[in-house]
Amino acid sequence: MLTPHLNRHADGELAYEGVRLADIAREFGTPTYVYSRATIVENFRAYQSAFAASKPLICYAVKANSTLSVLALLASEGAGFDIVSAGELQRVIAAGGDASKVIFSGVAKRSEEIALALSHNIHCFNIESEAELFRVNDIAIAAGKRARITFRINPDVDAKTHPYISTGLKSNKFGVAHLDAVRLYTLAASMRGIEVHGIECHIGSQITELSPYVDALRRLLSLVDDLSARGIHLHHIDIGGGRGITYQGETMVSMNDFAQAVEREIAGHHLDLLLEPGRSIVGDAGLLLTRVEFLKPGETKNFALVDAGMNDLIRPTLYDAYHPVTAVLARDGTPTIYDVVGPVCESGDWLARERALVLEQGDLLAVLCAGAYGMTMASNYNTRGRPCEVMVDRDEAHLIRERERFEDLIAHERIVV
Ligand SMILES: *Cc1c(COP(=O)(O)O)cnc(C)c1O
Repeated sequence: MLTPHLNRHADGELAYEGVRLADIAREFGTPTYVYSRATIVENFRAYQSAFAASKPLICYAVKANSTLSVLALLASEGAGFDIVSAGELQRVIAAGGDASKVIFSGVAKRSEEIALALSHNIHCFNIESEAELFRVNDIAIAAGKRARITFRINPDVDAKTHPYISTGLKSNKFGVAHLDAVRLYTLAASMRGIEVHGIECHIGSQITELSPYVDALRRLLSLVDDLSARGIHLHHIDIGGGRGITYQGETMVSMNDFAQAVEREIAGHHLDLLLEPGRSIVGDAGLLLTRVEFLKPGETKNFALVDAGMNDLIRPTLYDAYHPVTAVLARDGTPTIYDVVGPVCESGDWLARERALVLEQGDLLAVLCAGAYGMTMASNYNTRGRPCEVMVDRDEAHLIRERERFEDLIAHERIVV
């Protein structure tokens, strides 16, 4: 129905895989993130089967959802990981991931982070500036190692997505300019601590069309050829992540068309392929379960005041993002138009606007497509503990992260007066 493995029983109650959401709320409370194990696995395998011809290393972008059980599940499916911090590397290792399949992205990597990644012999560093190249070289020499690198190229293409999640334009902070790339590769090839390995781009997120990928790929491949003519031969091409999901009727280029187009472009170049998907692996594999505390009818708007807020799921506030919302118990009656808002003291604290719902106080709502950039972006604003997380697997529900307690929130504070 609305989301994979979400189904409504004959009595009107929603279940995720084989578990009723009302039972999860009873056992674990609300707000709670609930993930479908089957959906995560299916999403990962969809990449593997569409790209069966090129057998890419699929490096799941950890920042989309970095919960250990999610990482462990993907590691067991053979995933590599795209990390953006030492913390994410430590999460991958704690989850049993393979460091030799890790690539390290990010514009401002600290020296300790680079050293840690080197000590674990990660697959590759995606370098985003000349200054970073020098830093990685110095640290590698000091460690008696050579760091494999790509340059993240800013191809200056428009991913046609929200400005906050568009990363491949000249005006963005990411990557090195296409025009500068030959000089930087030549410099890198002369460095003792560097092994030039590949080329990378990541042009944005929630991309629905094919053309931005093809445009970016062509720009990268012309560089690959250019470098090859100068005696610099690359081993891999990494086209980043960014594939979108359907939040609100968006039509997505099919996975097979996407894979075929990518494989057609790189054919004949003798390059291994890397992918860095985040949202498209976990986005539609999770929901945020929340309870209606009060209904507040008004002159111009009706509010459903729920126990999840912007601190739990910030995408609506931050990106004006749309998440489908559905009542866990389908009631008969005439729907009312509600804004679904949280308890946080900000007018921007909303989860959904103008939704037709039949609700009573105490009802449960499921905010769908919340598996990516949900829990990882949650905060403790208003001294609210972050939600617990539950993974459903057929007819079982497993607690994979406890709800944060007040003691957790103050654990690192010292009272000085
Ligand atoms: C965030 C990010 C990704 C994942 O993007 P999605 O849109 O979630 O697929 C991949 N690569 C890099 C470098 C990123 O920063």
